[in-house]
Amino acid sequence: MLTALKGNILEALSLDTLGVHPDSYLVLEDGRVEGIYSILPESMKEAAVTDFGDALILQSFADMHLHGPQYEYTGTGMDRPLLQWLDTYAFPTEARYADTAYARRMYRVLARDLIRNGTTRVAMFSSLHTDSTLILMDELDKAGVTGYVGKVNMDRNAPPFLCETTEESEKETLRWLEGCRQFTRVKPILTPRFAPSCTDRLLAFLGKLKAERDLPVQSHLSENTNEIALVAQLFPDCGQYWEVYDKYGLFDSRTLMAHCVHSDIRERAAMRLRGVHPVHCASSNNSLMSGISPVAHMLQEGQTVCLGSDVAGGTTLSMLRTMANSISASKDRGSMMQDASQVISIEQAYFMATGASRSFFGQGIGFAEGELLHAVVLDDTDLPMFSGLTLRDRLLRAVYRLDDRHIKAVYSEGVRLL
Ligand SMILES: [Zn+2]
Repeated sequence: MLTALKGNILEALSLDTLGVHPDSYLVLEDGRVEGIYSILPESMKEAAVTDFGDALILQSFADMHLHGPQYEYTGTGMDRPLLQWLDTYAFPTEARYADTAYARRMYRVLARDLIRNGTTRVAMFSSLHTDSTLILMDELDKAGVTGYVGKVNMDRNAPPFLCETTEESEKETLRWLEGCRQFTRVKPILTPRFAPSCTDRLLAFLGKLKAERDLPVQSHLSENTNEIALVAQLFPDCGQYWEVYDKYGLFDSRTLMAHCVHSDIRERAAMRLRGVHPVHCASSNNSLMSGISPVAHMLQEGQTVCLGSDVAGGTTLSMLRTMANSISASKDRGSMMQDASQVISIEQAYFMATGASRSFFGQGIGFAEGELLHAVVLDDTDLPMFSGLTLRDRLLRAVYRLDDRHIKAVYSEGVRLL
């Protein structure tokens, strides 16, 4: 069946290129992109057109780093740096997800709010609880959110109420992977919380599992200076933080590494050479006083950087706000260093929030022909439309000024969900 969305279509074609299609038709055949046309071709005149008027039609967002069980306290508890913050807020909250009824209730709200915010793709941490992790995957799957969820592995340096033995962690990881087979949209991703919370034996087990089953991996890297010092103490044979993951086969093109705030040129080169995707989490880096990531440098060096809301270190689930925060953080870095080359553009922010993660989703570029539609429709028509205002200006303004109340439609896998 032929359908079409009509409006101002904006595609992230590359880090530097915005595809701009004013007042155009995004034509779909059975939910798959057929093409973008300024005038509907004669052969497509039968298409059922949904006219969004002067609204902006964007690619929907990929949030490539967030913690499902932390969503409930987003916007609170941000008065401590990372390691103390984990002990004070994150660990006690995550412990509540031993209760599956509680998890069901909370994860349903999270799945709903992701769609409301135009996020249709994720890479998400759960807690260490297998059953609640499966519930999280179920709620995302039912809501139409696609992507990856990981049962967290942590067998040391965690409080007794949120720690597994190595044997438990191994056994539960295998049980979780069995349970994942029932989901179509949401897939498993191995999730050692971060190097300090996993023993060498557990990391070796996960590396072997990754190789055997060709699984992706997500974790944290060089977020905070005290964390880096702790890693050096725990893994004295590894010269740098990344070498811990690399040693155990957890550092390749199917790996997402959150933060990388303090990754120096050598660590960045290792990521680039192995095709690891750094995930920039500007809001969290600010909230937990971790530092300001050298994102512009990473992009200039050829890294494929994605964006993450990182709730609840980050203060918002909104990827619009996450893009704005990324631009603002880059300007803070530029100001501190008196170096304008540190600043990222709206094109770069939009690409990092959409297409940068495409290898994880088997996507092409922009609204690629033949792919199921992932899109979000933003209505900014209550804002002043002054003369000379371009669609690029409106995209930039959208990331600063719009929120979920302006989101008029969301499509995931070709289906309209909102
Ligand atoms: Zn995180």
